[in-house]
Amino acid sequence: MKVAILGGGQLARMLAIAAHRIGIEPWVVDPSPEAPAAPVAHHVRGALDDPASWEAIAHCDVATAEIDHAPSSALAWLADRMPVRPGSRAFAVAGDRLAEKRLFDELGIDTAPWSAVDSLDDLRSALHRVGLPAVLKLRREGYDGRGQRVIRRVEEARTAWQSLEGRPSIVERLIDFDREVSVLAARGVDGDVRFWSPVENRHEAGILRHSRPLGPGETGSIEFAGRRVVGSILDSLDYVGVLAVEFFEVGGRLIANELASRVHNSGHWTEEGAETSQFENHLRAIAGRPLGSTRLLGPTAMVNLVGLDAAPEHWQAVPGARLHWYGKRPAPGRKVGHVTLRAETRLDLDANLAHAATLPVTSSEAFSDAALRWQAS
Ligand code: ATP
Ligand code: MG
Repeated sequence: MKVAILGGGQLARMLAIAAHRIGIEPWVVDPSPEAPAAPVAHHVRGALDDPASWEAIAHCDVATAEIDHAPSSALAWLADRMPVRPGSRAFAVAGDRLAEKRLFDELGIDTAPWSAVDSLDDLRSALHRVGLPAVLKLRREGYDGRGQRVIRRVEEARTAWQSLEGRPSIVERLIDFDREVSVLAARGVDGDVRFWSPVENRHEAGILRHSRPLGPGETGSIEFAGRRVVGSILDSLDYVGVLAVEFFEVGGRLIANELASRVHNSGHWTEEGAETSQFENHLRAIAGRPLGSTRLLGPTAMVNLVGLDAAPEHWQAVPGARLHWYGKRPAPGRKVGHVTLRAETRLDLDANLAHAATLPVTSSEAFSDAALRWQAS
């Protein structure tokens, strides 16, 4: 069994490592010689929209992607030759914030008030409808808070619009949330759906920093509500693979932020904290195999290593810490690895996290760049 993965970043790297373990041969397409997945997969070095790259993976049994914006030309070409999973509609929705918001509306899923924006005039009138403060987001290719501008006063509209180069966008109301939560699930070819525990996420400057699966008794009504939303998206897209949906929690209610049609950063903890990881279940799903149990094994947390603050060696002294290094060149605002912490009790977990917080890191420096991007306009 050979799986083709469009994109060779850290998600492809972790998928590839899981693939080897369960007897699947990973092939990745990525133009960069330094692609994080290159050392652990067959690496087709080429552009994702280059037919020569497609030819080089035409012998694979199934194709998937580790990015939200896989070119539709590549997906269509591959779909004539092999199953492309989670599916062309899923990729089309996840790669375009407008399509995503329309799907949420269509399924009756709550979102922040939003509006499509194609001109400065659109933006000004939309701000009156959605309300302030708001955030302007590029429709395509944004990640880690890139391609977003917060707008606090109508007068800031022009600067925000110009700094995103007047590209097709959406604007939405900034939500004053109690916490951010994501819900991940895997759906098999036979329609079997498995949910992992809902995850609490903390972002800094638009970048995910901490994720922690909520234990039994910590989720209140949101677990049921989150599963209902994710289940309805899975069914409506006839989805195969792992889907992640990010939410804002406000007064016990869930407001959908966005979805990812792939394995997700807030699911990295599943490798140590769940019986079957998101990487393995994504592969099992797209390969048409039975899914594994998603049971939570105990208190777990994940910390992203971002920018220049990575210092991987310090983490090895923290009890219960397991390091995942992506082999990327550190740069401000770039995710270069993560650490998963497992403990017997929540108390131990918190103590180990507190220990980790004393590590000599320079996160403020690493974050200044991203923070500026998030606050600009
Ligand atoms: P990623 O790819 O890392 O998930 P992204 O660049 O696709 O991120 P979003 O998830 O839309 O972007 O935004 C990143 C973070 O910015 C959110 O997790 C949240 O912390 C904040 N944010 C985005 N939109 C809003 C909003 N409408 N209200 C409040 N906070 C928001
Ligand atoms: Mg997000």
